[in-house]
Amino acid sequence: MSTENVGIQMSQHFLLSHAARSLSLAKVARMSDEEAHDAFRLIRWADTKGEPVCPRCQCNATYKYETRKLWKCKACSHQFSVTSATIFASRKLPIGTYLLAIAIFVNGAKGHSALQLSRDLDCQYKTAFVLAHKLREALADEKKDETVSGEVEIDGAYFGGYVKPANCTENRRDRRLAENQSGKRRVVVIMRERNGITLPFVFRSEAQSISTIASRVDGNATIYADEARHWDILHERFLTKRINHELCYSDGDACTNQAESFFSRLRRAQIGTHHHFSGRYLGAYASEMAWREDNRRVSNGEQYLMAANAALKHPVSRQWSGYWHRY
Ligand SMILES: [Zn+2]
Repeated sequence: MSTENVGIQMSQHFLLSHAARSLSLAKVARMSDEEAHDAFRLIRWADTKGEPVCPRCQCNATYKYETRKLWKCKACSHQFSVTSATIFASRKLPIGTYLLAIAIFVNGAKGHSALQLSRDLDCQYKTAFVLAHKLREALADEKKDETVSGEVEIDGAYFGGYVKPANCTENRRDRRLAENQSGKRRVVVIMRERNGITLPFVFRSEAQSISTIASRVDGNATIYADEARHWDILHERFLTKRINHELCYSDGDACTNQAESFFSRLRRAQIGTHHHFSGRYLGAYASEMAWREDNRRVSNGEQYLMAANAALKHPVSRQWSGYWHRY
């Protein structure tokens, strides 16, 4: 993006501009640090057309330290940069690298592994790992208070807790029994609005998801679920249609095909990209895949700006800031 383009974009919301929508990985990679800085500024302070706003007192009268890319608030004297008080606060890499990380992250339909990201960005594995998780957190956070309505598909799928069978048959144990399992197995339950958004949650069993479903699904919604018995209770609260997958995958409009499509993406990310989901981060990966599934028809350029916008709207991460110092 040239400085001239930036001038044109100032007249409208950056996210809606043509230049924004057509951004590609190649264009991001070619940006100078100056241009990357301008892009961050326009995304973060879109409401003031890129003019800095103090993150502490929301005042927009500032002094500018031209050479250091810092501003000082005239009202409260707080010094801040374009990434202060965001998920990229106390950044260590050049600013353009963060834009590149976002562009690479959104381009991976099945996700992007931290190892690959560290190679792409030429940074340490740990840095890439935390950076990708910060992006997941910012994307998930945008839906933290969302509810779903209309036609809603509900389904669950189990992940993790794999117990390797013993080599010799006489040493093998029945892995279906609770005492022979690792206790790490978790289920991702999703509520997917047809032609709308997807809300994923992680539980120990599908049955434990009922109260979350009750709080996140609008009371007037029609629910579509499979024949599993623990969904029976949903009939008390919602108009619920069931589909017996042993007989067929859809019966009229009763199906959970969109839920299946989400799980297929999550499985592909697990098998093809990450190879293993640690139970601790299963929710983060599920949220990422929900975001990808919901935005699958949005252009890469727009996805990139949505992710950058989410990252710059999200305050400093409690979970991920200083992560490697704690672990
Ligand atoms: Zn201030």
